[in-house]
Amino acid sequence: MTVTVVGSIAFDAVQTPHGGRERMLGGAAVHFSLAASFFDEIRVVGPVGDDFGDEEYAVLHGRRVNTDDIEHVTGGKTFFWSGVYHENMNARDTLETELNVFETFDPKLSQQSKDADVVFLANILPELQLNVRKQCERATFVALDSMDLWINIAKDALIAAISEVDCVILNDSEVELFTGEREVVAGARKIMQHGPQAMVVKLGKYGAALVTPDDSFWVPAFPVDVVADPTGAGDSFAGGFVGCIAAHGGDASFDVLKLAMAYGTAIASYNVEEFGTERVARLTGAEIVERVEELQRITSFETLEVALKA
Ligand code: AMP
Repeated sequence: MTVTVVGSIAFDAVQTPHGGRERMLGGAAVHFSLAASFFDEIRVVGPVGDDFGDEEYAVLHGRRVNTDDIEHVTGGKTFFWSGVYHENMNARDTLETELNVFETFDPKLSQQSKDADVVFLANILPELQLNVRKQCERATFVALDSMDLWINIAKDALIAAISEVDCVILNDSEVELFTGEREVVAGARKIMQHGPQAMVVKLGKYGAALVTPDDSFWVPAFPVDVVADPTGAGDSFAGGFVGCIAAHGGDASFDVLKLAMAYGTAIASYNVEEFGTERVARLTGAEIVERVEELQRITSFETLEVALKA
């Protein structure tokens, strides 16, 4: 199967209580691609400027990500984002967003990218997400991510995009902003009224919930010793989640979705242990499997009999 991802390719600057980086490879489409590359052939679509060079391509090629549809805008500068995390690593403040080549981005998909079986619409302008969705007529599973900005300023366009996808991936504060609902399942089901049959609600360091019209499934975050930099955790989760579904032929049955939650969780947990793409770029399949198995061990229990008092 082929997975196409459309989204930001970036240089990020971050500061966290564990240090910082002035300029590191990032962007939603990059984090997603590296994570999803463990499952299938990934084609990444997004714009870069003259400052994006061999070193950055080498990271993607190191995981065999197909970069043919990365659009090099001559004379342009790559999207730049900077943020700071405080003691509570669940919240971050954006310091700067320089859209640069992203400002006029109009996704141009090659025929191979249009022919993908599985598509991830990373966080970009909802109109562009819908445009890409329409170009990928053959896709059997399409997932979409978004952010507070689009919920605030382009909600109708976002609803139009959501109504054309199979799965929406948002964090809990975005679900609340979108629906006014504080409760995860109730909020997710409100969003699913627009069409999708599944929703993933990311809960930061508390894990993630999968919600379908008549069921739900919960995974904690994999417990790691140190969270150095959470940037890209959500997109790494999405890469593992969507990648796992692609590896199952685009089958979005509840059993596959649950397994996909575990793979997303495992890869995201590696992502946060170092800055940017540093850890996932040298991750191995065996390491992913190790954490998926450990996650299963620490979340399952026997229903032994307990004599409860009246
Ligand atoms: P995550 O931590 O999973 O939410 O993803 C963080 C990544 O999203 C960073 O690598 C940023 O480059 C990228 N990013 C931040 N702001 C935006 C934005 N407005 N549009 C697209 N991508 C963004």
